[in-house]
Amino acid sequence: MSQTHRFDVLILGSGAAGLALALRLPEFVSIAVVSKRELSEGSTYYAQGGISAVLDANDSMDSHVEDTLEAGAGLCDPERVKLVVEHGPASIRWLFDQGVEFTRDAKAIDAGGYHLTREGGHTHRRVVHAADATGKAVETTLEERVRSRPNIHLFERHIAVDLISGRKLDIEPDRCLGAYVLDRQGGEVKTLLARFVAVATGGASKVYLYTSNPDVSTGDGIAMAWRAGCRVANMEFMQFHPTCLYHPQARTFLITEALRGEGGRLLLPNGEPFMPRFDERAELAPRDIVARAIDYEMKRLGAECLYLDISHRPADFVVEHFPTIHARCLELGIDITREPIPVVPAAHYTCGGVVTDEMARTDLPGLYAIGEVAYTGLHGANRMASNSLLECLVFATQAAADIQARLPGVPPPPDVPPWDASRVQEPDEAVVVSHNWEELRRFMWDYVGIVRTNKRLQRARRRVDLLRHEIIEYYGNFPVSNDLLELRNLVDVADLIVQSAQRRCESRGLHYTLDFPLRDPSQRQPTILIPDSYRPRLD
Ligand SMILES: Cc1cc2nc3c(=O)[nH]c(=O)nc-3n(C[C@H](O)[C@H](O)[C@H](O)COP(=O)(O)OP(=O)(O)OC[C@H]3O[C@@H](n4cnc5c(N)ncnc54)[C@H](O)[C@@H]3O)c2cc1C
Repeated sequence: MSQTHRFDVLILGSGAAGLALALRLPEFVSIAVVSKRELSEGSTYYAQGGISAVLDANDSMDSHVEDTLEAGAGLCDPERVKLVVEHGPASIRWLFDQGVEFTRDAKAIDAGGYHLTREGGHTHRRVVHAADATGKAVETTLEERVRSRPNIHLFERHIAVDLISGRKLDIEPDRCLGAYVLDRQGGEVKTLLARFVAVATGGASKVYLYTSNPDVSTGDGIAMAWRAGCRVANMEFMQFHPTCLYHPQARTFLITEALRGEGGRLLLPNGEPFMPRFDERAELAPRDIVARAIDYEMKRLGAECLYLDISHRPADFVVEHFPTIHARCLELGIDITREPIPVVPAAHYTCGGVVTDEMARTDLPGLYAIGEVAYTGLHGANRMASNSLLECLVFATQAAADIQARLPGVPPPPDVPPWDASRVQEPDEAVVVSHNWEELRRFMWDYVGIVRTNKRLQRARRRVDLLRHEIIEYYGNFPVSNDLLELRNLVDVADLIVQSAQRRCESRGLHYTLDFPLRDPSQRQPTILIPDSYRPRLD
């Protein structure tokens, strides 16, 4: 008999967004946090550069807002941008209070003693960081706090299969009641019920062959919320990081933008700088411009990679500011204090996601979406560096406040049927899953990548349709497994990305198509996809 567990709040995901929500809720609330692998594994852990916030007396909220709007290429929601920026300093203080050790600088009196870096798109130094391993400092500190809280129950190595909603089970009033969750070790599908549910499952960059993201970033929350009737927006805006280390043993190791912020120069294989030919801001141009320039030069020259060079700065400065990158490259035989780093672009960040309001509520009552899984209106057509961790923290706080206010008025969910695995048989062709994983990620890279065309999108459309059909059939007949669930979610996400890209007949922000190379002012609105099961909220 499958197990049922009951909580006040169920949080799917244990990155900055999920853990901040768990910690922001009061200790009398019973909470479950579900994490696909060990608690710390997610994009948060790998974030290097830092978190943006107005901390310097010479900076201003208006300037942070303006820079974000500029990067977002006309598609940010100005009210949401303002909300996030205004909560910036308090969010950093909260992290500090939790015990996160940010890099200090005794001389930075105007910045309250924090060492601030400057990254692409920012007109001021406003990125607080813990050397070049900010995410690790944030994630491990929050993890320690969460593990010490008796009201927080952890389900590690459990993957959410699908959300349970009233509408699917004909239970009124319609709301999110919990999720079915597969125990990856035991193989059992458990029923986790809760008065409120939050998806904090991160982004979807694993839909591409090359990505800076860890394996967990398969867009599960976006796919689950879409299947549960929530609208999804701006999925055409996938951000490609310009500089991932190019090395056979280190495909997903990222070289932070802060390295360019501190004077790193991009070079062709012959040592020639090229960024000034593409943008007057050169290496400090927003990352989509840098990624496209690298893609262009690599294709033009048939080069396997280009180079990023910081070796002209003093060696002790480089080692002090970029200890992780220095150590990792050295392990692979590259001394960044003396030679340039080989780099390629890779899928990095999902700007779109599940549509949410200012309190992080989705279209399904009782369901919240926070962090990279969500579309909040902050990023528009392009995310500015270091705004995403801030977004996780701010909307975790908003969701916690909303949940706390509503908790007394929402009864525990009723009993629901357990997961039914009676009709499935043992798989006879598991190769379908591994083959389709490869195929999907490769054609998404080739046809829906940094530079798109109508023809490439049509090709991708046909392949997505075929794969979806095969995967749905397989899903209905065989037991669920981690790989199968991720593949099913990836193909749903690929479908949403292609649909959104086909609707946007212009080039704007991260969406660049050779068929419509210019921005079209009449298309200055988000791309919102509406599922068949969508119902407008009444509360
Ligand atoms: C290499 C790298 C560097 C970055 N650098 C920066 C930076 O310097 N500054 C910045 O602001 N941003 C940076 N980003 C982006 C930022 O790290 C992410 O946007 C942010 O950490 C996302 O946090 P999150 O909590 O939404 O998701 P994540 O941290 O990705 O966590 C997702 C969680 O969801 C869980 N999960 C997923 N699916 C399921 C499922 N089906 N069931 C159960 N659990 C599930 C995962 O196990 C994980 O616990 C970087 C990203 C990367 C990859």
